[in-house]
Amino acid sequence: MKIETKCLHEGYTPKNGEPRVMPIVQSTTYVYDSTDDVAAVFDDPTKSLIYSRFENPTTDCVEKKIAALEGGVAAMCTSSGQAASLLSILNICEAGDSFIASSSIYGGTINLFGVTLKRMGIECIWVDHDATEEQLNSAFKPNTKAVFGETLANPALTVLDIEMWAKAAHAHGVPLIIDNTFATPILCRPIEWGADIVIHSTSKYMDGHAVQVGGVIVDSGKFDWTSGKFPCMTEPDESYHGIVYTEKYAFAPYIVKARMQLMRDFGCYPAANSSFLLNLGLETLAVRMKQYCENALTVAKYIQDTGNAEFVTYPALEGSKGHELAKKYLPNGTSGVISFSIKGGRDTAVKFMDSLKLASNEVHVADIRTCVLHPASATHRQLTDEQLVAAGIDGGLIRFSVGLENVEDIIADLEGAFAKI
Ligand SMILES: *Cc1c(COP(=O)(O)O)cnc(C)c1O
Repeated sequence: MKIETKCLHEGYTPKNGEPRVMPIVQSTTYVYDSTDDVAAVFDDPTKSLIYSRFENPTTDCVEKKIAALEGGVAAMCTSSGQAASLLSILNICEAGDSFIASSSIYGGTINLFGVTLKRMGIECIWVDHDATEEQLNSAFKPNTKAVFGETLANPALTVLDIEMWAKAAHAHGVPLIIDNTFATPILCRPIEWGADIVIHSTSKYMDGHAVQVGGVIVDSGKFDWTSGKFPCMTEPDESYHGIVYTEKYAFAPYIVKARMQLMRDFGCYPAANSSFLLNLGLETLAVRMKQYCENALTVAKYIQDTGNAEFVTYPALEGSKGHELAKKYLPNGTSGVISFSIKGGRDTAVKFMDSLKLASNEVHVADIRTCVLHPASATHRQLTDEQLVAAGIDGGLIRFSVGLENVEDIIADLEGAFAKI
């Protein structure tokens, strides 16, 4: 199946007389005939359902669909993108470990990695997204267990050289985890470039309609955990009657461990209703991504031509930062998100944004409707000036998320707001 077809048909195939649409199984629990049957479920929890804190049939369909879209072997949904980022690291790092992250990533992830994980004894080593291979290699420590980056960073829109980062990670025997939220598997499939784990905030394009907050972790099934660097995978899990994940679940030890250990203990699993809504979004993901890219390229060119911006970042746009890497990793477009720094700085940015009528001012992005955000006063408010610079953000920076309205209406709205400044 081609990707458009996978969006519609992967994950759920009704049998004779079953509902055409994936049903919502709104049940916390699952019934068995005998105590022995329940015991057997606990012996191999991947075979049957136990409890909806870590598995549910509706969510299971969505997990299978997203795994197929990314080219992975298994996936686990989470109740938010933040939960996906957190579990992706906690699954392999513990107190005393470190991991490397690109400094150009989502603001919420920067806080999670730099503040909260630090409190838990896990060190994040920040590396510039455009570091040379040599710089990247020199950042590793003996206790480094993972490398993390974003395909197309929110909101800086830097493009990561995934192949090079994967090479460095593998040279040090650790996996590359990629947050592929903005690109979606329609525009880039990081596993094809060497990534081992892919995560998403499904709250963005995957849902697309701004109706559910969610996340997902996808396991490529390709990483070899048996080097001795990951005892959590290769030694018996005492909290699960001595299971050795790489032995019993060799097809996807990472995701099975994440579900049976972390999801069991933290319980950040989505509700069946949310997964149903997410699936509706996924069904049209391929057609929507094409239109977002087409609209955004037109809008990016328009903003650039007005001369009102210090710079326009839209990697698909010729002359934009990241254009060369985008040609390699995102040849079909770079999503609907544009960022530009308005001439006049912070005050002009605020005036401009408050003058927009169609585009809504909201803390969301990648919506079906055009929306706009001022990162310095919102998502990145908690960052220090230094962190802001490292994340590629200045006071005049505006994140403009182009929706699926007719592009002439979006441009008319921008024209009106530019006239007010
Ligand atoms: C929004 C976002 C997150 C966090 O996801 P939530 O669903 O809001 O928790 C993580 N990474 C990226 C790139 C995002 O855009």
